[in-house]
Amino acid sequence: MAFWPSIVVATPAHSGVGATLTYRSELSLAPGALVRVPLGSREVLGVVWDCPDAPPEGLTEARTKAVAGVLEGLPALNGCWRQLVKFSAQYYQRSLGEVALAALPPQLRELDSTQLARRLKRRAKAAAGVPPTAPEALQGHDLSAEQAEALQALAAATAPVLLYGATGSGKTEVYLRATQAVLETAAPENEAPTQVLVMVPEINLTPQLEARFRERFEPAFGIGSVVCLHSGMTPAQRLTSWLAAHTGSARIVLGTRMAVFASLPGLRLIVVDEEHDPSYKSQEGARYSARDLAVYRAKVESEALANAPHPSPLPPAGEGERPRCQVLLGSATPSLESWHAADQGRYLRLEMPGRIGGGALPRLRLVDMNHQPKGAVLAPPLVAAMGERIARGEQCLVLLNRRGYAPVLACHDCGWKSGCPHCSAYRVFHKLDRTLRCHHCGFTERVPRACPDCGNLDIAPVGRGTEQIEEQLAGLLVDVKRPDGQPARVARMDADSTRLKGSLEQQLEALHSGEVDVLVGTQMIAKGHDFRRITLVAGINADSALFASDYRAPERLFALLMQAAGRAGRDAAQSGASEMWIQTWYPQHPLFVTLKKHDYPAFAAEQLTEREQAGMPPYGFQALLRADARTQQAAQAFLNIAAEQAAGLPHRDDITLYPAVPLTIQRVANVERAQMLVETHSRGALQRFLSAWQPVLHACRSAPEAKGLVRWAVDVDPLSI
Ligand code: ADP
Ligand code: ZN
Ligand code: ZN
Repeated sequence: MAFWPSIVVATPAHSGVGATLTYRSELSLAPGALVRVPLGSREVLGVVWDCPDAPPEGLTEARTKAVAGVLEGLPALNGCWRQLVKFSAQYYQRSLGEVALAALPPQLRELDSTQLARRLKRRAKAAAGVPPTAPEALQGHDLSAEQAEALQALAAATAPVLLYGATGSGKTEVYLRATQAVLETAAPENEAPTQVLVMVPEINLTPQLEARFRERFEPAFGIGSVVCLHSGMTPAQRLTSWLAAHTGSARIVLGTRMAVFASLPGLRLIVVDEEHDPSYKSQEGARYSARDLAVYRAKVESEALANAPHPSPLPPAGEGERPRCQVLLGSATPSLESWHAADQGRYLRLEMPGRIGGGALPRLRLVDMNHQPKGAVLAPPLVAAMGERIARGEQCLVLLNRRGYAPVLACHDCGWKSGCPHCSAYRVFHKLDRTLRCHHCGFTERVPRACPDCGNLDIAPVGRGTEQIEEQLAGLLVDVKRPDGQPARVARMDADSTRLKGSLEQQLEALHSGEVDVLVGTQMIAKGHDFRRITLVAGINADSALFASDYRAPERLFALLMQAAGRAGRDAAQSGASEMWIQTWYPQHPLFVTLKKHDYPAFAAEQLTEREQAGMPPYGFQALLRADARTQQAAQAFLNIAAEQAAGLPHRDDITLYPAVPLTIQRVANVERAQMLVETHSRGALQRFLSAWQPVLHACRSAPEAKGLVRWAVDVDPLSI
């Protein structure tokens, strides 16, 4: 007897190859089994999707190839995982093969059965070798009343839960306890042990969270019960973590957005920390939102659990006690999408407004830059306030969303500016290594001695970045002494200072230990850190985002400033005096008025009203069609032809196609970029329209007007427009 498995292999996003390929096999293969199959002249990894015992119509034995081998010892990927992958491919308009294979660890593609068997054996030995050291050791904090209430409500919840908790309200302890509750639930016999997925925006930014999970669970569940999954790991490490999750020996997976695709046969809880963070949205390949997929995945897993036959009759249980997979989204500044879902009752909103220990949120002080000495980058009262803090042994954070020394270098004689020859952007002046660097394409040159156009020796930086603020502050605080009599120490943390492995941890440690008094940095200093001695946070250049054209800019700015403020006064004893300073030319701006009251609900309500009136998300639904080409003309021509050819497609009348426009930064690395906004009032209409549009888009690539097109992509639910 022969079988005709349909198998998913890696296919380029727009290859037009059907979703699955048919092979032949002597054995019946389980859906989800991992196999190696011939493809062209190579042998590649594939996932069995289905395994009928008759060939599809029109296929003969002679025209199909045989499966080369099954990856022995690996359980099949389960139905929930396959459903998640299938949904992602459909929803984000990519090929099934691309999404499925990208969701697997890259090294799995390279191993043959023998190598894999060796890996599995080694892993099994390692897992067996480290029993829990202290099975009873699950000590946590005594819960605050708010935490206890939130946990109780979570246990009973049947909808996705949005944990809206102030900065410092102790959300992490809620995640830890919810995780503990899951791990202590025994899985039915012969089923995978219960598992939890915890997602964070950028794992490297919050080494503390990982440490807290390991500290809490490894003594009780063994080393290896907590694994990480993120792009900073080596392929070998990723495979090890993935296998541990897939085989059930890891009980907790901590990871970034890619972890949403981890194979977790016993999944019962997904936590999405800082759920508002834009890094949950992928910006390449399938442009998925890991937060949205987490919600979807929890639903699919719950349905599967509800439908699973259970060996023993279930005890008569309330809704909340049926086996299910929950999803917990946490933030002090939730995304407007999630906030809206909670308003509508689709999500359950749980609130923790108070800080642990009863401390207050920092007081907001707006510095009116219209009244500061001309040319002052840092307002004198701010510098004085920082000096006082340092003298008392407290610490300050200074936030500026621009790295380098100055965003532009310019000649005042002839008007030359440090433009990038390959991009429509300026190269940033980095003073430390005296380079001009393009932050878009990476093109780097030494700073010229004189103006390249007119020879003027006096070329000067315009504007400021973190390097410059660090330098200026060191000068302004030169006479300030710490309580131990030492001079004040200023440090900087941004993508440049943290490039080397381990340097970020080192810099955070310098702040935690009190070695550093002032930390200047980009938004990475605002994220999730539990600093204990910061009492002043300053945002020194927030205005640019106030008038940005992107309708999401206010949401992002508000979240960033509130998160930054949340780093101050986390120790209740000092919180009374903690402050957030913002330098602005527009102190009356409504965003600041709301921020002053720490009133996220009011801010969200205002924004949602505006969005509703304009038919913007979450009331409307959007996608972007993006095109990159050798010329702007070709990029736009592709978009325009695609729009013309959309005539007559399903739901075309419900869809608005906006004119093709160049991106704000129109050219990057000599590629011209353009996009077209697709908008509608119905998610279903958008989905059906986009699916029907796909083949049209494939065909449009070869239109003569679009000659020079490099690539195109659809971005569903785009985050920036
Ligand atoms: P959030 O993520 O909500 O900003 P964290 O989870 O970082 O806040 O908690 C803030 C601080 O409070 C941490 O240092 C944490 O260890 C501490 N903490 C949390 N819960 C409790 C509790 N119930 N009792 C005492 N301290 C707690
Ligand atoms: Zn010049
Ligand atoms: Zn460039």
